[in-house]
Amino acid sequence: MQDRETEFSGGSNRGRRICIIGGGIGGLTAALAFARSGAEVELHEQAPAFTEVGAGLQITPNGARALEALGLGGALAAAGIAALAVEPMDAISGRAVTRFDLTGLAKPPYRFFHRADLIAVLVEGCRQAGVVLRLGSKVNTADLDADLVVGAEGIHSQTRTALNDVQQPFFTGQVAWRALVDAPDADPVARIWMAPGRHVVTYPVSGGRLNVVAVQERQQWAAEGWAHQDEAGNLRQAFRNTSGRLTGILGQVDEVHLWGLFRHPVAETWGRDGVCILGDAAHPTLPFLAQGANLAIEDAFVLARCCRDADDIEAALKSYEALRKPRVTRAINAANANARKYHLSGGARTLAHTALKVMGKVAPNAFMNRMNWLYGHDVTK
Ligand SMILES: Cc1cc2nc3c(=O)[nH]c(=O)nc-3n(C[C@H](O)[C@H](O)[C@H](O)COP(=O)(O)OP(=O)(O)OC[C@H]3O[C@@H](n4cnc5c(N)ncnc54)[C@H](O)[C@@H]3O)c2cc1C
Repeated sequence: MQDRETEFSGGSNRGRRICIIGGGIGGLTAALAFARSGAEVELHEQAPAFTEVGAGLQITPNGARALEALGLGGALAAAGIAALAVEPMDAISGRAVTRFDLTGLAKPPYRFFHRADLIAVLVEGCRQAGVVLRLGSKVNTADLDADLVVGAEGIHSQTRTALNDVQQPFFTGQVAWRALVDAPDADPVARIWMAPGRHVVTYPVSGGRLNVVAVQERQQWAAEGWAHQDEAGNLRQAFRNTSGRLTGILGQVDEVHLWGLFRHPVAETWGRDGVCILGDAAHPTLPFLAQGANLAIEDAFVLARCCRDADDIEAALKSYEALRKPRVTRAINAANANARKYHLSGGARTLAHTALKVMGKVAPNAFMNRMNWLYGHDVTK
């Protein structure tokens, strides 16, 4: 599993005691990064096991670079599916508007994962690096005695509220359904099926399944979190006037979960007095750029490196926040803008689809070049 014992080891983390709250993708990456650099790490996860609700995740080169630098390159390649392209689709006609080739992106590859597979890779990496994993352990900062406590508890983080005033998120008027359907022959392409006021993203994950995330604009509120099941008929109803190709996929959906999409402000304070936050705990994002987990991975790597490079943890926390806030804010703003672009109607829709088609023909690399700030970023440098 450990491809390369990296330059990451050593520095001021040696012998430090680090406690992580939350065993999601951000918390596990942070645990691994601190352990690799010589810290004694204990991770607390409230759930009794590292099981993830069935869903997919796109790990883009920027996130994968940090995981590779922590020694997980081989395991990632084995667990993920290398993506060939992203295809924006006209959900009504069922035809591709254009195709963005991903194979020319700088390595590591853009990959599709089942979340459980990625969590398993991270857990195994943590075990090998000597992280103490405490399951069924719901804790808060007051329970823990360490040189640094990292709150990686996701959107409902108590560590965030310990460091910041409570800021109420607002409902965006959008809901997301998530489902998996059988598709043993699906090609390794992410498709964004765009229709007025709604869209669906599909891509394959392990086990011959297709991950489906469908988003609809609507006023009826829904709670934030994957614990809420919905009727598959509601999803089908929302996309009833779309192409047979898409309704065929949605027709296979059996079990479906519903998530209300909320906008949260980026936390003002990310770290103070030996306590800090990362990932969704610090900056939840809408899913329209597929970056929440990637940003959590980047945060974890940068946090551990800032601490490794500083004798004073408070100074490290300041550097961490200063390095991460501008990038995270840019990504969140880009995700917010994508919702509007995917859901256009009427003349604006025709115009945007025509522009995409022309761009795909005349300058096929233009889109990927425009994404270089995101996918080309290398937190390991
Ligand atoms: C529809 C949808 C699709 C998405 N697709 C993508 C994608 O393709 N690519 C991408 O990068 N991101 C994607 N995301 C975003 C991504 O899922 C999140 O941003 C990411 O999982 C955040 O990771 P985290 O570790 O910060 O938090 P979480 O994954 O939420 O993990 C938090 C963990 O902390 C635990 N916990 C909470 N409180 C406590 C406590 N008190 N004590 C102990 N443990 C506790 C929880 O049980 C949980 O395991 C998507 C999100 C949505 C909604």
